[in-house]
Formats: sequence, structure tokens, C-alpha cells
Amino acid sequence: MKKRLVLIGNGMAGMRTVEELLGLAPDLYSITVFGAEPHPNYNRILLSPVLAGEKTLQDIVLNDREWYAAHGIALHVGDPVTAIDRKRRRVHTADGQEVPYDRLLIATGSVPFIIPVPGAKLPGVIGFRDIADVERMLVAARGGRHAVVIGGGLLGLEAANGLLKQGMEVTVVHLLDSLMERQLDKPASAMLQRALEQRGLRFLMEAKTDALLGEDRVTGVRFADGSEIPADLVVMAVGIRPNADLARSSGIHCDRGILVDDTLQTFDPAVYAVGECVQHRGNCYGLVAPLFEQAKVCANHLAQLGYGRYQGSVTSTKLKVTGIDLFSAGSFLGGEGTEEIVLRDPGVGVYKKLVVKDNRIAGAVLYGDTVDGAWYFQLMREGTDISALRENLLFGQHHLGDAGHGGERRAASMADDAQVCDCNGVTKGAIVKAITSKGLFTLEEVKAHTKAAASCGSCIGLVEQLLASTLGSDYSAPEAKPLCKCTDATHDQVRAAIREQHLISVGAVSVKLGWRRPDGCQVCRPASN
Ligand SMILES: Cc1cc2nc3c(=O)[nH]c(=O)nc-3n(C[C@H](O)[C@H](O)[C@H](O)COP(=O)(O)OP(=O)(O)OC[C@H]3O[C@@H](n4cnc5c(N)ncnc54)[C@H](O)[C@@H]3O)c2cc1C
Repeated sequence: MKKRLVLIGNGMAGMRTVEELLGLAPDLYSITVFGAEPHPNYNRILLSPVLAGEKTLQDIVLNDREWYAAHGIALHVGDPVTAIDRKRRRVHTADGQEVPYDRLLIATGSVPFIIPVPGAKLPGVIGFRDIADVERMLVAARGGRHAVVIGGGLLGLEAANGLLKQGMEVTVVHLLDSLMERQLDKPASAMLQRALEQRGLRFLMEAKTDALLGEDRVTGVRFADGSEIPADLVVMAVGIRPNADLARSSGIHCDRGILVDDTLQTFDPAVYAVGECVQHRGNCYGLVAPLFEQAKVCANHLAQLGYGRYQGSVTSTKLKVTGIDLFSAGSFLGGEGTEEIVLRDPGVGVYKKLVVKDNRIAGAVLYGDTVDGAWYFQLMREGTDISALRENLLFGQHHLGDAGHGGERRAASMADDAQVCDCNGVTKGAIVKAITSKGLFTLEEVKAHTKAAASCGSCIGLVEQLLASTLGSDYSAPEAKPLCKCTDATHDQVRAAIREQHLISVGAVSVKLGWRRPDGCQVCRPASN
């Protein structure tokens, strides 16, 4: 008889673990999945483009109901697990179901932190976490005018940008004096703030929220200095907290999150946990790349293969605001024993800083031109000695090698387990295997078969290089194809137009060549740059 696996939390980390497990041991378990949300599994990181009107909810579904059925998985959505009886190895749900397990996987994610100020519970005050939040924001945007976003971090700025695009007047309130201070140094942060102000966002910096005002629903925000601003909607984006209450109440050992070892096992050997709800070697993560690494190891142990170890992750971040390119990784502030290599060109809106320690990249901040972010991140993760590259390092990967083939050679020399698509956790090895075993020739085919490059798009260049290096002379598609969906012009035509018409900014290229989207996209912006 098959063993019984129950997954609590139908989100990104839990379902990735199930997908990995199906790849390793498809017949080992009969699987039951409980999700609190009334939806099948979707790509949470793409809620920002949905809010901004750039994607639909349908676009972001990762596994639809037919997929669960086809894999024999019993899916219960909109039915949260309310208790875990570890003695009898059963879970109890809000709808009154009682389901036994041999192995339990907890992947309950995080909850947004709501600042406990007076008025925080008023209708119209929300977090930014799930489809329901996005739907609330879209309704508010139809009826209201003033939105206030509390928190000038990654999530807050993506929420603010989306609400602005939905026609609201948006004020971002930030406690500190610079935006995204956990990812950006001051010069990059200042450039970002200026660019967002030019789009119409307002900022109240060093502002401490004292109370949210209103009787039946929120109408305004009051600050510590006594000033007030109107608000029809308040989005709190000041941080997240691991959602570990269910595990804690069942006696599983927790600190900030559910404590797991390097196999993702909790203190109860029958119970595993992955994702934002866990705490591993003192760290709780809030990005998908580490969770996908956890998923791989956890699946390996659930499959009873027993050799994977998760040892923690180095992370990088990008901001998903169309028209603003930003990348940050590692120790970007520098400090004792480090050197900084900086390129700053305010004229074209480019700022790049690499922090180097012992001839190795320790951190990076890129603003305006992020095309080499993935490369720097790889050099950083692999601890590559950059002495030989140093002279041209800031000018990017395409300066290495001859006639523009440096990228292909680099792609070819990447390790098989190097991650190419951070959003979907796809390695070089998986992409090359799909290209060769399934006979893929185009970027679209790679996207469809592997999910690589199908989310934020920042790895498209790298995927194309992998296609080129794997297929060799068989790969000729991009030269003949339009540069991207913003234009019908090919790469070569754009290059020729830049030369002939002396176009010296990305904006000038998009205006002169009649881009369909004035801001361009993740493909044509870096390419034009
Ligand atoms: C708007 C937004 C943008 C983001 N952008 C990025 C980005 O650009 N890059 C990046 O790396 N990361 C990004 N993230 C973070 C990323 O989405 C998370 O790291 C990831 O989704 C966490 O996966 P998880 O499975 O741990 O949690 P989730 O994906 O949140 O899944 C947890 C699921 O468990 C369910 N659940 C909770 N309790 C129960 C219960 N008792 N019973 C049943 N189900 C339960 C929840 O409803 C939820 O569906 C973003 C997040 C948001 C909200």
C-alpha cells in the first residue's frame, strides 16, 4: 500500500516539493493537499504584475485542477488545516475533515506584519500577500482616490506602482530616509526614488505612522508629528512573519519559524517543513530561490533517497516595476577589507557598484542596467577569483571574448547545477536537458517546457545563450525574430537605428522606433542600453 503524504499549504514551496517528489518517486505516496486560499497553486511573485495590469490571474496559475487530478493528488482548496494531532498522525480542517498521514509537510508561508497602531483593523487596511489582497486593491482603485502604502521596501514599491497604474494617487510612507535600504546603497536608492517620483508616486520619508483614522472604514493616516493625509486604502508592507502558529500549537518546536535541520525535517521525524514558515540555521527566507533549494532537498528525503543536504542560501533581489531595472545581491554596503568598483552615469541613469573582497565579488548593486546581474551573482556564489576579469568587469559579460560570443562561452562553461531562472528555480542542467531531449529550438519552447524565463524575464538573455551554446549552428532564431514584443524590429535593425539616428538613451530608442510599450520590457531595455 502507498504511504500517505499530507501537504498543508498549497503555495510555492509546498507544491514545488511535491513536483520534485513526483519526479523522484511518483508512486511512493498517495498525496493530499490542503490550501487555505480558494485557488489552485499560483505564482505569488507575479501578483505585482497582476496588480499593475500587466498579467491576468489566469496567466499566473502554476498547476491547474486538471494537473492535480492527472497526478492523482486530492486537492482541497479553501479548507485550512486547523489542528495537527501528531499522536494519531491526523490533520483536522475547518470543514471538519480528518485525514491521516504517514508523512506531513508543512508549507504555510508567511503573514504580513500589520503595525499595531490604532485603526489597524479598519476595513480598507490590508497587506499584500495573496489574490484576495489584489482583488481588494483593484476594487478600492475603482471607488477610491487616495492610496497610502506604508513601507518603502520591495513589496511596498511594487504595490505602490500597481495602484498608481490603476489610477490612484499613491503616497509611500517610509520610516527611514532611503528606500529599499536592505537592498540598496544611498546613491542607488536616491536614483530609484527620483525615477518613481517622475512617474507620479509621492514619498513621505522618515515618517512614523501614529494612527489610521476613520469610523466604518479607513479615511486617513496620522503621523507622529501630528500631520494627516487622506486615505481610501492603506496597504501595510512593512515586513512578513513566518506563519508557524499551527505547527507551534501542535507542539512542533518553533522559534521565529518552524525549526528544521539540513534535511528539512522538524523535531518530529514524521513532519517536514519548507518555505517561508521555516527557520533554518537561524534564517527565515522571504524569496523563492531559497525555497526551491529547500524543496529539492526535502523531496529527496521524502522520496527516501536520503542524501541531500540544505546548507542555507545566498540571495539576490530585483524590483518588478516595469521600466525600472534594479538588482541587488550580497554585502552591497562594503566596509573594512573591501574595495568598491563603481560606474555612475546619471545622464543615462546607470549606476553599478561591485563590492570586492579578497578578489571575489562580495556584493552588487545595479541600477538602470541589470543585464549582468545573474553573471555577477554566479561569480559571487561560486567565489570566482575576478583578478583576470577586473578591468572589464563593470562593462559586462559581453566584453569578454570576441565578437559577442563571450556570453555563449560563459553559458557553456556554467556548472550544470547553476541556477538560471531564480523565479522558477530552473538550473542550466534542466534547460540543456530539455533542449536536447525534447528537441527545443526557441525561447518560447524553453519557457513552455521548463518554466525558465517565463516569470520576470530577467534571465531571457542567459536562456538564449544556452540555446545558442547547446544548438551551435542550428540556433539562428533570435537574429531573425523581433527583439521583443515591444517592437517588430530585430536586434540588428535596432542596433543600426541607434547608430544611424544617434539615439543616446533607452527612451529615445523607444520613441523613435515606436515601441508598443513606452517603457519597454525586461528584454529590450537592457538590450538598448
Ligand atoms: C506581491 C509579492 C511579490 C513577490 N515578489 C517576489 C519576487 O519578485 N521574488 C521572490 O523571490 N519572491 C517574491 N515574493 C515572495 C514569494 O512569493 C514567497 O517567498 C513565496 O511565495 C513563499 O512560498 P511559501 O510556499 O513559503 O508560501 P506561500 O506561497 O505564501 O504559500 C503558503 C500557502 O499556505 C496557505 N496556508 C497557510 N496556512 C494554512 C493552513 N493552516 N492550511 C492550509 N493552507 C494554509 C496559504 O494560504 C498560502 O497559500 C513575493 C511575494 C509577494 C506577496
